[in-house]
Amino acid sequence: MSYLWNKPLENLPEEMTTIWSCGQGACKSWIRDSFSFKDQPICPMCKSAMVRSEKILPILVKTDQEIKHYRKKQRAEEVN
Ligand SMILES: [Zn+2]
Repeated sequence: MSYLWNKPLENLPEEMTTIWSCGQGACKSWIRDSFSFKDQPICPMCKSAMVRSEKILPILVKTDQEIKHYRKKQRAEEVN
């Protein structure tokens, strides 16, 4: 099952992620939630107030170690 380690990044697992979507109906802009937001963020496109929401997104991985961690988890899930 070692081939799993070579899967492209697009196959990363997805999870429910907190996002902020634009409150303006016509505007489809949204951003991932970040701990740096003290208050409601403002839409970068139209400057409207954004609404907290959730979306299924591929997990965010920044390091090789993290990728390995998720690959390992994925592998374990396939075996079970
Ligand atoms: Zn907007």
